[in-house]
Amino acid sequence: MRDKQPFEPKISKRIAFKLSRNVVLVSLLIGLLISVFLAYRDIHSTQRSFNQTVKQVIQTVNQPAARAAYNLNADLAGEVADGLMEYKSIISVTIHDDLHNTLASKSQDLKSSPYRWLAEDAFGGLQSYEIELRTVDDAEVKAGYLQIIADPIVAVSDFIDRTISEFIFNILRSLIVAAILSLIFYRLLVQPLQNISHDLAYADPDNPEGTRLSVPKSNIGDELSILADSGNRLLNSISKRVKERDTAESELINAAEMLEQRIKERTAELAKQYEAAQAANKSKQEFLATMSHEIRTPMTAVMGLSDMLLDDDLKLETREKVEKIKGATQSLLVIINDILDLSKIDAGQLKLEHTDFNFRSEIKKTIEIIERLAEDKSLELVVKISDEIPVSVNGDPTRIRQILINLLGNAVKFTAKGTVSLEVEKQMISTADVNDLWLIFRVSDTGIGIAPNIIEELFSPFTQADTSISRRYEGTGLGLAISKRLTEHMGGTININSTEGKGSTFEVHLPLIAAKSEIKDANIPTQATSYETQYPLTILVVDDNQINRRIIQVIMEKNGHKVFLAVNGLEAVDHLNKASSGSHPDRFPLPDLVLMDIRMPEMSGPEATIAIRAMEGAIAQIPIIALTADAMEDHVKEYYEVGMSSFVPKPIDTFKLLRTINQVMGKEVHKAVLSPDAPQTENGSGPSLKVGG
Ligand code: ADP
Repeated sequence: MRDKQPFEPKISKRIAFKLSRNVVLVSLLIGLLISVFLAYRDIHSTQRSFNQTVKQVIQTVNQPAARAAYNLNADLAGEVADGLMEYKSIISVTIHDDLHNTLASKSQDLKSSPYRWLAEDAFGGLQSYEIELRTVDDAEVKAGYLQIIADPIVAVSDFIDRTISEFIFNILRSLIVAAILSLIFYRLLVQPLQNISHDLAYADPDNPEGTRLSVPKSNIGDELSILADSGNRLLNSISKRVKERDTAESELINAAEMLEQRIKERTAELAKQYEAAQAANKSKQEFLATMSHEIRTPMTAVMGLSDMLLDDDLKLETREKVEKIKGATQSLLVIINDILDLSKIDAGQLKLEHTDFNFRSEIKKTIEIIERLAEDKSLELVVKISDEIPVSVNGDPTRIRQILINLLGNAVKFTAKGTVSLEVEKQMISTADVNDLWLIFRVSDTGIGIAPNIIEELFSPFTQADTSISRRYEGTGLGLAISKRLTEHMGGTININSTEGKGSTFEVHLPLIAAKSEIKDANIPTQATSYETQYPLTILVVDDNQINRRIIQVIMEKNGHKVFLAVNGLEAVDHLNKASSGSHPDRFPLPDLVLMDIRMPEMSGPEATIAIRAMEGAIAQIPIIALTADAMEDHVKEYYEVGMSSFVPKPIDTFKLLRTINQVMGKEVHKAVLSPDAPQTENGSGPSLKVGG
């Protein structure tokens, strides 16, 4: 039900009411003005006619009065006086003889009247007349005097009566005219207008054509009929638009439905494709994990055997060859790490660390690695760190180091002489958060530079500036791709400014946050040159690969530990069962620690761990370190979930293994021997170091 209120104006607001009110008021005003004007004119003519009448009466009695005065006839004078008193306006008559003796005198009291004031103000009150009397026969002789006093009250009363009736008549006439005019206006203007406005007000907005505006016959051709016609035209055009809109709307709905259908189909397709991509990605990841595992396993053997050989007394020539084997294996490891990194980033599996770290200490570690390479090529290495950078910051130090090692490594690799520099400064940026800390890392060199046309491509994997470069300089073309992805993953940007033949500047902008706590400079591990064993342990080494088993055995024995071997998880569990029962303490002694491979036939490392953790007694708590060539992050998480104590990737970094043993044993089994002058890099783990040439 439509709300009627807005379409029914209040009575006082209606045009008909306003029109009638105004016509009546104007008519009354006009009637009043006319009445006042007529009264004003009447008052003067009444006054004139009163004077004239009195004078005519006097004229009429002039001769009889003269004769009475001439003849000193008091009776006649009395009759004349009575005759005059008959006239209502005369209130006093006196006739004297020529010597002013009174012959007759008549008078009456003043009539009381509410209009006396008008008689006084407008007619000058009582009027006195005195005329000399002369007879026609003896006009030369003054016969006497006639004195008359006339009262205009009668004329005034007549005037008032007339004026009142005239006023009433005028008002009535005005009201009648107003009523007739109002009726005419109502019929001619207001009613048709009301009809039009009513029809418009109740027109159905969805069907404007259903409303026809019309005027009575009497209005045909006038402005109202033009208004109605125009309104009808407008309604028609609105109706056309409504129809068009309805058509468009239904077309739109159809299109939307079709689109929805298409989206559904497309979404289903995409979901399928996504699943396929996921599956492909998963197989790619699995392939990479397997490949990495399969390559790392023999590499562990090569590296371990190289280390073992290098520990022997070798001829210089043989030593050099073994060192080359080790170097080549390390480079291969770097490539595998890079490919794994790249695939992890691309699969969105890279998890960033958010930890407080000592900024200068991390930069120092990075520089220690680059320093030796720069020295080898006699390049000057300049490092400038702005004092504005806080001592400790929060972020992922490993990944920052990885980016810097990539860039600095390239700078050294592609520079034959001159300088390689690293500048770090705070970027002045106005952000709402005071903890935001944008750092600019600028790595510059005076090397071969890069041609401008290929700069952008360099960030794609496996891209090098020039194919001849790959012949001259070692490299895979992965470093910049990884650096860019890592930078962007951390929310930063990387850009290059380079001039061929003059050098390049790589600028990395990284958002970090201020550290909550201050972290002390602690770079001891990288400076350890060797470890001394303080507490010899009994260790159970579990690995299906015979060479690897042997290598780990040699490393551990070299560090003063006693080693027992198992070829798979099953044998390990069996060993521990027997050890805990104490049946053959010589063959199956109770170990302090288990070094466990992951992928093994019959029973894998994680399966064995589950079995060990389920054993009874203290043996279930034995520390187990996973040693695996499988370094995929998700897999590592699984090792911890099944109860392994820690994890060391293969090929084994001996120092890292020794430190991890300290950590899981909860005491300093191996004591670091420090030498601040001899920075030590670690093989196989940490950020990829790609420096060749
Ligand atoms: P790689 O160094 O293993 O070839 P990168 O992705 O690190 O792979 O670099 C890709 C290419 O970018 C390099 O092969 C080289 O052509 C060019 N490049 C990178 N850094 C520099 C530099 N500092 N000076 C000149 N060229 C560089």
